Amino acid sequence: MIISFDLDDTLISNNKFDLEKINLFQKIFRIEKLRKDTIVLFKELKRRNHKIFIYTTSYRSVSKIKWMFYSYGISVDYIINQQKHQRSLLDKNIYCSKFPPLFNIDFHIDDSKGVQIEGEKYGFKVLVISETDKNWTQTILKSI
Ligand SMILES: [Mg+2]
Repeated sequence: MIISFDLDDTLISNNKFDLEKINLFQKIFRIEKLRKDTIVLFKELKRRNHKIFIYTTSYRSVSKIKWMFYSYGISVDYIINQQKHQRSLLDKNIYCSKFPPLFNIDFHIDDSKGVQIEGEKYGFKVLVISETDKNWTQTILKSI
């Protein structure tokens, strides 16, 4: 299955949830901190042969996002940022903030209820993860 993750307030936030530890290299290069247990979750998803995409409405560059994950020892299979999203939807008659089916994504994970509503409207699967969910990785593993 192809599973995509939102970044801001789902995997990245400075003050909303506990974070992964970073090493000196990551500190020097000001790598963004990931939500605690992201590494173990991504490794488990890979072990189960899922593909991991990042789908963000932010303007971070694809290479920046890619290297951020690499620095934690995890790789993601494909990255959709705001630029790529806009380009891909240009000639379609679809108006929503995220449209996972366009990238063959089976399941999208986000903190936004808005994206979930879009999913209901356009018929794609969204799992909303609360910032306060300490067992968020289990919530995901149980629902896929
Ligand atoms: Mg978000």
